[in-house]
Amino acid sequence: MTDLGYFSEKIGSAIDRVLCETFEKREEKLPSGRYVSLCFDDFPKSAVDTAAPMIEAEGWRATWYVAGGFMGTDQPHYGTMFDAADLIRLVEAGHDFGCHTFDHVDCRQVSAEEIDAQCRQNLELLAAHGIGDVNSFAYPFGAANLTSKKNLSNANMALRGVKPGINSSPIDLNMLKATGLQHDNGGIARARQDLKTLKQSEGWVIIFTHDVSAAPSPWGVTPEDYRELLSAVEESGAEVVTVGEMVARIGALAAPVQRSRAA
Ligand SMILES: [Zn+2]
Repeated sequence: MTDLGYFSEKIGSAIDRVLCETFEKREEKLPSGRYVSLCFDDFPKSAVDTAAPMIEAEGWRATWYVAGGFMGTDQPHYGTMFDAADLIRLVEAGHDFGCHTFDHVDCRQVSAEEIDAQCRQNLELLAAHGIGDVNSFAYPFGAANLTSKKNLSNANMALRGVKPGINSSPIDLNMLKATGLQHDNGGIARARQDLKTLKQSEGWVIIFTHDVSAAPSPWGVTPEDYRELLSAVEESGAEVVTVGEMVARIGALAAPVQRSRAA
């Protein structure tokens, strides 16, 4: 891409971001309290093998944002991705699952019909592995514009972005904030800061990452950092809940969650 193309893309993304933060909101009241949710996007096998046991040892569960097209594949930055046995292992342990489109598509680049088809294909794959009650969605690449936000708002799922920070009442259920454990957030530094802030006020901190490995991608963390993060979560005194559980408590969506083709 030329420099000019790069800059216009950046400006376009910045405008999309501002529009998405301002319009097509689904404002809901958060139950009183302090909450943390732990998430994994895409997701590499290293997250299941390394992070899931750490989380379970605390008596907690996570939310796994599945893009079904990654199942059983190897990816350049992440290495080996989850497989069918991982899904079954996680669902049997009581974890929560979210939709991340089937092919990890940039929702700004495809039609409403394509997003709908992507979600349906993904939810069918999850259902085939015993996962039925999916009530949240994470925008692949964190990429959204007003059109995709509006279209997905009909999907009866809470929608999660990648803007770091604390969700405090009224939250936008169509664009939940989430703090990434990733290189450009200082690894776990930004999440630690959010957890510190959460001690002073009510709200919901959603923390996500990708791979958890000794030599992580720019969007992942080391096992040592993940363990340190979990210690900070525990120290915050917040209640750890899955995104699905929190969305159910908020009670704004129809239940049971069934995605149907947009009319
Ligand atoms: Zn992703």
